[in-house]
Amino acid sequence: MEKYCDPFAKRYTEQVLWTITGRCNFRCRFCCVNTPDSALDEMTHLEAIQAIDRMAKCGVRSLKISGGEPFVREDFWSLVDYALEKGMKIDKIYTNGWLLMDSVLDQFEQRGMKPEFCVGFDGVEKHDWMRGIKGAEQAARNALIRCCLRGFPTSVEMNIHRGNTDVLRETVDVLADLGVRKIICHEVRNNDMWKHYAAGNEMSTKEYVEAVLRYIPEYYADGMRVVVRFEGVVDLYKGTGEYRVIDYKNEGKKGYLGWYIGPDGQIVSWKRITDDMENVWKEGYLEKVRETCEQAKKRFTTCSA
Ligand code: SF4
Repeated sequence: MEKYCDPFAKRYTEQVLWTITGRCNFRCRFCCVNTPDSALDEMTHLEAIQAIDRMAKCGVRSLKISGGEPFVREDFWSLVDYALEKGMKIDKIYTNGWLLMDSVLDQFEQRGMKPEFCVGFDGVEKHDWMRGIKGAEQAARNALIRCCLRGFPTSVEMNIHRGNTDVLRETVDVLADLGVRKIICHEVRNNDMWKHYAAGNEMSTKEYVEAVLRYIPEYYADGMRVVVRFEGVVDLYKGTGEYRVIDYKNEGKKGYLGWYIGPDGQIVSWKRITDDMENVWKEGYLEKVRETCEQAKKRFTTCSA
């Protein structure tokens, strides 16, 4: 059949999020990929090369790379070079930051690359507890500083739970000082790991939205210093006072809109926000978020000239 018809010829998707390994040097309390024994493992080098070949044939031009921790893969640079050879860009890398040294940034620069680094950061003085590694917070901060100083775009993903809402304001402030461009906050996904290790810090979706409502006026009062997204709730835009309430009815049910390839090579799709969000919105929270943003905007962005 392939002799007469190229099965990839008419396929096209521009971007793929690829988890290149299920291995990691961290032991996060909520991890759904690595887990303590790296249950999902990773593709062999040959399988990964073949995956790149297939992606190239399907028209993929942009990769977002995640893990596990991507930099624990010994053949990381060989895979990057092969993807570049096939005409792809590496647009974004998700990392815990521990291995993101200047020597790694040198390697990217030598290849003429400036990908965005998205570093996990779960709150000032709360991060080590969440990540299971002493020094994880300092490592993440150092990685972000290195990237910012060298002109690499940076973002942060922050898991919100009962134990870190009290440092949300301080955390956004610290990350803005470091030069982070965007912070994406979301509920901790309630998987078996988190249920086991949360130590009372599990949070319902309603509690999460209420924590966001408490924080919104503080964001405006502090000068709207960095773009912050609260997944499933609201986008807050730097400097302007503008915001966008995320309307569950229109867009909350959407899954990840590209392809996601897991560490074992399976193509996976997932919803960005939890099922409980629909019930929370039905209780009128969409309007509460809008009102809170409007009031804060009026109070903290009125021109005094
Ligand atoms: S850094 Fe990521 S992959 Fe590693 S254990 Fe934590 S959540 Fe899992």
